Amino acid sequence: MIRTKTVAFTKNSTNIFFHILTKCNLKCRHCYINPRQHGKNTLPLPVINAWLEAFAQDSNSKNLIFLGGEPTLHPDLPAAVEYARNLGFGSITIDTNGYLFHDIISKVEPGEVDYFSFSLDGTTRETNDRIRGAGSFDTCIAGIRKANSMGFATSLIFTVSSANIHEVDRLPPLLKDVGISRFFIQIIGLRGRSATGSQTRIRDQKLQVAKSQWLNTIPRVARRIAELGVTVTYPKVFLGTGENFECAGLVADNYFVFPNGRVYRCPLCEDFALHSLIFKNNRLVPADKLNERDLFQLNIAEGCVMNKLIQPGNLSYDSAGEPEHKIACCLLKEEIRND
Ligand code: SF4
Ligand code: SF4
Repeated sequence: MIRTKTVAFTKNSTNIFFHILTKCNLKCRHCYINPRQHGKNTLPLPVINAWLEAFAQDSNSKNLIFLGGEPTLHPDLPAAVEYARNLGFGSITIDTNGYLFHDIISKVEPGEVDYFSFSLDGTTRETNDRIRGAGSFDTCIAGIRKANSMGFATSLIFTVSSANIHEVDRLPPLLKDVGISRFFIQIIGLRGRSATGSQTRIRDQKLQVAKSQWLNTIPRVARRIAELGVTVTYPKVFLGTGENFECAGLVADNYFVFPNGRVYRCPLCEDFALHSLIFKNNRLVPADKLNERDLFQLNIAEGCVMNKLIQPGNLSYDSAGEPEHKIACCLLKEEIRND
């Protein structure tokens, strides 16, 4: 039976999104990595290990996601995976654009890495490569097949924009063919490259999708994919009447760690010096005020305060000046699975 549920925030489970470097071989149009805010460091292995230890100390179950840049460009990634496993992290995921550098796939075991999570932004070579770069479609598909053939579980992240929404109906057969077990849909935002003027457009095309396009397309396609036995997760984005707004910064336990030591609790804050924590001498300590924690407290009719500050185009108002809908926390997800 197909079940849809909103994944509730919880403080009992910790998610650590660990950017171990910002270097990448690709230059995707919507990349949110911002070297001015996130640094250009490649963290040495002893520092990675020390920071992992800082998160390993409490009793919560912990999901660790290694990201970059392209994390497989880091030659010590296998050693970092092994260290994290020994520290007791509950699940370990490696996000990758599919290039799988340093033969990572032969240097870690399916028992150590729960998922290799690939990124693709089109169901055709033409669309994907226009967004992510020449050759990236074929490389990603080959990477998924190779990971599956070696016994790894694989997931796929697809960032929906006006440049690829016309292709989402082709996703179910593609996912079935390559053997994906979890599928994550994201929505193009206004972070990173996509926030900087000309890069919000590809060949003069605005990348953000309209509310009606999103609602008419994504839940329907997500259901078709779930019917194939693939668990699908996508952001809720718009809250319906009567649905509660919650800010993950207050009610969840997420950490977005960057190689310059900044640690955020909210991904929409990452383009600003608003991090609430920072690594100093390998110790995680509170950052100076004002920071994102001060924003999380603000209770506004539009829902997410960061959305109102940096993506006001997502909002609309009625004739009395009241918001027509609340914008959900960007971390609030719908999950569809076939139980
Ligand atoms: S693969 Fe990821 S890190 Fe690299 S350019 Fe693309 S979005 Fe950015
Ligand atoms: S996206 Fe908005 S609601 Fe979510 S953590 Fe950030 S500020 Fe809070």
